[in-house]
Amino acid sequence: MPHVVTGNCNGCRFTDCVLTCPVACFHGDDQRMYIDPIACVDCAACVPACPVQAISESADLSKDELMWVEINAEKSSGTPVIRTKQTPLAGAEERRAALGF
Ligand code: SF4
Repeated sequence: MPHVVTGNCNGCRFTDCVLTCPVACFHGDDQRMYIDPIACVDCAACVPACPVQAISESADLSKDELMWVEINAEKSSGTPVIRTKQTPLAGAEERRAALGF
């Protein structure tokens, strides 16, 4: 089961994750990041890199989070690969604080 980027990425887009991935499977649009489920090798290297704990193994998702499996698959196929860290979204630090990180 691939890893997925969940809702905590919304409003943040810190992109620290892309620096850890050995297979460059992170894609992104101007709102958030997505993991290509075909490319992901489930190494889990990206999990501790995310400052808002937005990345989970698919099998660990709660029922309310399962939608992120399909969203990551769909969105990653139509968005560019992101290989370098980018400037977080405006308000990302406030969002992180609001999430408790
Ligand atoms: Fe990349 Fe590994 Fe994270 Fe999958 S689990 S997105 S391969 S760093």
